[in-house]
Amino acid sequence: MQQIIENLNSLKKRIEIACIKAQRKPEEIKLLLATKTVSAENIKIALKHGESYIGENKVQELKEKFEALKELQHHKHFIGHLQKNKIKDLLNCQVSCVQSIDNFELAKMLDEKLKARDKKLDIYIQVNTSFEKSKFGVQPDEALALIEQIAPLEQLQIKGLMTIGLLSTQSEKVRDCFKLLKNTQVRIIQAAIPNVLMEELSMGMSQDLEIAIEEGSTMIRVGTFIFGQRIYPDAYYWNENA
Ligand SMILES: *Cc1c(COP(=O)(O)O)cnc(C)c1O
Repeated sequence: MQQIIENLNSLKKRIEIACIKAQRKPEEIKLLLATKTVSAENIKIALKHGESYIGENKVQELKEKFEALKELQHHKHFIGHLQKNKIKDLLNCQVSCVQSIDNFELAKMLDEKLKARDKKLDIYIQVNTSFEKSKFGVQPDEALALIEQIAPLEQLQIKGLMTIGLLSTQSEKVRDCFKLLKNTQVRIIQAAIPNVLMEELSMGMSQDLEIAIEEGSTMIRVGTFIFGQRIYPDAYYWNENA
């Protein structure tokens, strides 16, 4: 328990130092706890310590932790690959944002299910900036067209973009991913599409959050640095076929 709080405190230091370097303010950067495989008990420690955003990759895990986390106010984001047959369960878990929308069919189905419940939902468009086949996300040069297609769906509010940077020790290659997401955001803002907000850039994880902050991230998604190593490889979460 103490470890999680210590880790959160050293993470805050990392964010502060990155912000000084980037001439930004720490308040500009939201911290989303990436809580896949993390127990509800451990998530609660972080929430009680003042954190307010969690992100899950699997609907099943959202369901399992739902009751235990109910008592603590927080925002739930979905950051994993969403299967169409899980939409109903997802909406039952009261998520406030789905960060992983990368195709129109999924958006349309989500919109229909929301309409039936008379509910709205924030979404980010996931962009594949590393061009790895194993990663989900729309290709950067197709993002604008996808957003134009999704924008008219009334129950969905596009709020920004999300990406997973290249997992690499070559920091310039990682930086290229984040620059590409930023450029994509700029192009979409210039297109001035009705009903589209581009305020959020969700990028940066345990290994690369400093680079992401330098390149304009407004939300970092951090798991390992706070909660420790996971037993499953991330490919299990990022690619169903893995
Ligand atoms: C697991 C995960 C993270 C956090 O990764 P860490 O390296 O553990 O900080 C961020 N975003 C997504 C989409 C994830 O699946």
